[in-house]
Amino acid sequence: QTAEIGLIGLGVMGSNLALNIAEKGNRIAVFNRTPARTGEFLDEAGDLGANIVGCLTTEEFVAAIRPPRPIIIMIKAGDAVDAQIDALMPHLGNGDIMIDAGNANFRDTMARFDRLKDTGFTFIGMGVSGGEEGARHGPSIMVGGTPDSYARVENVLTSIAAKYEGDPCCAWLGPNGAGHFVKTIHNGIEYADMQMIAEIYGILRDGLEKQAPEIAGIFGGWNRGRLNSYLIEITEKVLQAKDTVTGAAIVDMILDRAGQKGTGKWSVIEAQQMGVPATAIEAAVAARSLSSMKDERVAAEAIFPGGRSRFELPAGLALETELELALFAAKIAAYAQGFAVLSSASRAYGWSLPMPTIARIWRAGCIIRSQFLDEITRAFTANPEAANLIVTPAFSAMVRESLPSLRRVVAAAVTAGLPVPALASALSYFDSYRQARGTANLIQAQRDFFGAHGFERTDGLDRPHGPWGSGA
Ligand code: NDP
Repeated sequence: QTAEIGLIGLGVMGSNLALNIAEKGNRIAVFNRTPARTGEFLDEAGDLGANIVGCLTTEEFVAAIRPPRPIIIMIKAGDAVDAQIDALMPHLGNGDIMIDAGNANFRDTMARFDRLKDTGFTFIGMGVSGGEEGARHGPSIMVGGTPDSYARVENVLTSIAAKYEGDPCCAWLGPNGAGHFVKTIHNGIEYADMQMIAEIYGILRDGLEKQAPEIAGIFGGWNRGRLNSYLIEITEKVLQAKDTVTGAAIVDMILDRAGQKGTGKWSVIEAQQMGVPATAIEAAVAARSLSSMKDERVAAEAIFPGGRSRFELPAGLALETELELALFAAKIAAYAQGFAVLSSASRAYGWSLPMPTIARIWRAGCIIRSQFLDEITRAFTANPEAANLIVTPAFSAMVRESLPSLRRVVAAAVTAGLPVPALASALSYFDSYRQARGTANLIQAQRDFFGAHGFERTDGLDRPHGPWGSGA
């Protein structure tokens, strides 16, 4: 009995995806570089093992799959993927499909499509979001490749994907690197979302001296309103959790040094490459980098001590509502920026990315899943040509309602010496974006002064340089 699909890489993500695939009634062949892991995995699989063919050699693995063979590669991203492709190729037949499901840089995915173009093999670059839990019970799946190759794997992928109102959170998004690009921007938005939540936590902790359980309650309340989302939900749970060693809130026992594996940075690099401002995402990536400089921060606080005062909002405002609306406004900016990067890439690479579909498949399974994505799907469906999410009628109404709170919260945080880089970037993004007359006239004059770059005149007259050369 042959398998419908194969999977290489029985690490955290691969083994959970394989169990998910088997559980949905699909027969799957699995292979892992270190063979001992395959045996271990079959033991863990229990009854699901009936749908799993464990293979110890590449030959055995390939022979176990029905041609044309879809093979999910779920291993460490980077050179390992190329080495794995090379190792597989001599064993494959025409039309077999290699699916890189790791967190690849979309530029590597594009290069792999090029490399495999005339080989008779097919390639898919597939973004998978949702971490371990998502992989096991339903991730969000973003596919890039040819529609034909997607058709071969669509049944299996939609069977394992998260479902939102019955619809699978899995879609073909475009050719070649489209799936991995969308996954990268998903992660960029995730960085911004997490950082902005952490900044609000910082205001409550350091500006208002609230303890973790109380802050948990505030996030819990927000999760029942407009901020309802997985990240707010887990923030409440994290803040409630107790350390089993000391009994203190676990969050207070965790070192304030955040890791990053690259996708946030890639999303900022790609945004910059295309000239799309993604300032809230940039601020979030920079904040993680700054967080990692623990020793420098400790030394700097000794040099500049006591720079913080109490967070004070103007009288008469309800603190929790103000913070909720501020976070909401900033979240709109981050998503607007992420989607603006997607539209620019869609044009640059000829992908025709379906924005409403992207928002829909992020609705369940992935880390940034939230009620708010429904609004984004609706806004892009109603306004497919919108230049930016924030100018759509639905979102401009939300911005009008929430922006004043973001302004007051950022102002109060800045006055109190509390760092809010992502919230402040989001605010400045709104303020710059809706400013019909900016200050780049001065930049243009400076550029012309020192570099004779010329400028456009407001009256359209044709006089490309300023009077500086003449000493005016
Ligand atoms: P793990 O570290 O748990 O597993 C890594 C897997 O890669 C192992 O099966 C390992 O095999 C295999 N591997 C490593 N190097 C090679 C190589 N040179 N040749 C062949 N196989 C190799 O990683 P994850 O499961 O967490 O991640 C896998 C991919 O999924 C990565 O691209 C990651 O970025 C991505 N991803 C991870 C998410 C997560 O939340 N963890 C979420 C979404 C995507 P061996 O047992 O022999 O070491």
